[in-house]
Amino acid sequence: MKRRQFLKTAAVGAAAGAIASPAVAQSMPEVKWRVTSSFPKSLDTIYGASEVFAKAVAEATDNKFQIQVFAAGEIVPGLQASDAVTNGTVEMCHTASYYYVGKDPTFAFGTAVPFGLNSRQQNAWFYHGGGQALMNDFYKKYNIYSLPGGNTGCQMGGWFRKEIRTVADLQGVKMRIGGFAGQVLQKLGVVPQQVAGGDIYPALEKGTIDAAEWVGPYDDEKLGFNKVAPFYYYPGWWEGGAALHFFINQAKWDSLPATYKSILTTAAALANVDMQAKYDARNPAALKRLVGGGAQLRPFTPDVMEACLKAANEVYAETSARNADFKKVYDAMVPFRNDQYLWWQIAEYNMDTFMIRARARG
Ligand code: CA
Repeated sequence: MKRRQFLKTAAVGAAAGAIASPAVAQSMPEVKWRVTSSFPKSLDTIYGASEVFAKAVAEATDNKFQIQVFAAGEIVPGLQASDAVTNGTVEMCHTASYYYVGKDPTFAFGTAVPFGLNSRQQNAWFYHGGGQALMNDFYKKYNIYSLPGGNTGCQMGGWFRKEIRTVADLQGVKMRIGGFAGQVLQKLGVVPQQVAGGDIYPALEKGTIDAAEWVGPYDDEKLGFNKVAPFYYYPGWWEGGAALHFFINQAKWDSLPATYKSILTTAAALANVDMQAKYDARNPAALKRLVGGGAQLRPFTPDVMEACLKAANEVYAETSARNADFKKVYDAMVPFRNDQYLWWQIAEYNMDTFMIRARARG
């Protein structure tokens, strides 16, 4: 290209750039949305994910896209958050997908399933293992587009008034535990109970229930369970890496300019990593305080773990036989999990094990 011709072309290019700016303005319209959280403000890590998300979106759009955060109960109760998104009452919610296993057990894979993935593996599956695309295919039935938006990491196995030394000790234990994990424990004689967060403490204190699982040290400490049920079991094998999601009304998502879709996706990813970081940073101190306050740590025995795994596999087979959506996602997750642990046993496991032992030696 001759120099003069190049300059001419470059000038045309610059002019095209100048007239492109109104298009940028159009891609940043004023938008006001509401996000209803399934959680109370007192659970600052998990509720806080919505605030982290909304702040990131506002900052990236010069406050043109404002998302107001509402705690559970302010617009709809926590467990109706997804319905509010499906029917368009709100544009979006922040919730745990597995709250909705009553509608369809396939919802469980959005959060955690017994003996499923840990938090790192969960993200690997969502972002790069086809998991998120599979879940969004499923959520379409409910007018929902989802973005991963937080993780608690591996949870604790809950608070028990008496020790669980053998599988037989699970017989007749009335335990506050949610949907899918409750079905697994039921096979071993546990009587699952649905109890809202604020009602767990009095139920344990009175002996209406014998055990309760919640989250982990940082959240459990606030509810004071160590005073009424001293045996604090681990791990919470039903939530190896419990993921939270932002559910967005599909039509509202589709209506957004590409710029906003990109910003929301980035903000959700920020909330996702931020929540796990907060839990990991805050759990150790909470655990020390709980043990100082009388909590007695107990691992589930290998026999109890094996019996629970066997019961979980039975529930998976039964559910897969009657639900094609569930089977499709389960059949995708299992080989992914298998490969993850093939890798995990090499570097991560050995590094962690070495450091844990080195720390114990001082
Ligand atoms: Ca839990």
